[in-house]
Amino acid sequence: MSDHTQSVLDINLSAMARNWSKFSKLGAKTTAAVIKADAYGLGAKEAARAFQDVGCKDFFVAHFDEAVKARSFISATSRIFVLNGVFSNQSEIMAEFDLIPIINSIEQYEIWENQNLPFALHIDTGMNRLGLRFDEYNNFEKISKNANLKLVLSHLACGSDPNSSKNITQLSLFKDACEYFECEKSLSASGGALLSDDYLFDLIRPGIGLYGGNPHDFGDNFSEAVVTLKSPILQTRIVKKGESIGYGASFIAKKDMNIATVALGYADGFLRSASNSGFAIIKNTKCKILGRVSMDLIAIDISNVESVKFGDTVEFLGKNALIDDQANCANTISYEFLTRLGNRFKRNYFYE
Ligand SMILES: *Cc1c(COP(=O)(O)O)cnc(C)c1O
Repeated sequence: MSDHTQSVLDINLSAMARNWSKFSKLGAKTTAAVIKADAYGLGAKEAARAFQDVGCKDFFVAHFDEAVKARSFISATSRIFVLNGVFSNQSEIMAEFDLIPIINSIEQYEIWENQNLPFALHIDTGMNRLGLRFDEYNNFEKISKNANLKLVLSHLACGSDPNSSKNITQLSLFKDACEYFECEKSLSASGGALLSDDYLFDLIRPGIGLYGGNPHDFGDNFSEAVVTLKSPILQTRIVKKGESIGYGASFIAKKDMNIATVALGYADGFLRSASNSGFAIIKNTKCKILGRVSMDLIAIDISNVESVKFGDTVEFLGKNALIDDQANCANTISYEFLTRLGNRFKRNYFYE
């Protein structure tokens, strides 16, 4: 299965499907799947197929273009919601492709109103990003009378932190907003859905948890790993005490070391911010990244592993190299780490 001459991204579609099924058992009537940004970089078409196979009928994307594309591989009877809403030059095609805009403002409402077709409404409960604000509740009343309104949603700012009091504040505001509307309600993405049953409402919108990232900032991961990133070793060498490794000579060996140079770099989407902090796994041993991540290459410390040689593969993401840990080493979050993984890898989709 693995190709030993280049970096390979293994994407386990069964694991994705199992993650969706796990969310669907939490108790919300409907469990959607968020497949924006090409399913967090893993391939929206393949991901959607995996979710549809286990019963998912509701999808969320961010952009109009993503939605139009998604219609070609998502069943005609399934719903596709567009988080960024609608611009006036998009409304005809949106109608034609049976896409559901999430109306974020009164301006967007005025664009869509005349289509006489389904839409969702975003209410801002504290994120201050998208959605109608509470001081526009006169607009809530107006829009609530429109029979095409199918879903009201809001989004949590701190859903990844079970200890944040902001969740309770937003929950309470969302419940107040719900009083105005009779359609389906949705508050939670992956993190919120795991806070408690109070956050489930009619529909949950998991994204990161489907792709193996931990929906919460700490504690055991609810989700199963989905991606494995493996790279081949191009060369091994001994670096003497006092010598440097890589661009900028940012790492100086404090003792003689055994290192391996691996075919992976920032041009593949492996973040340069993981320089001198990220890691790889070889034979169950954690090997630190030494020096800067360069465009096509990374050096790792193999001093503690026996008989590593040219052509062996090392794991940068997978069951033993958790995406949240690697992202943390690169000073970022699993979301950014996943969405940056580029198209230079050989991608290998499988069911297992
Ligand atoms: C991206 C997004 C989601 C999915 O969030 P995750 O944290 O990845 O589960 C859900 N709802 C909205 C509004 C989003 O923007």
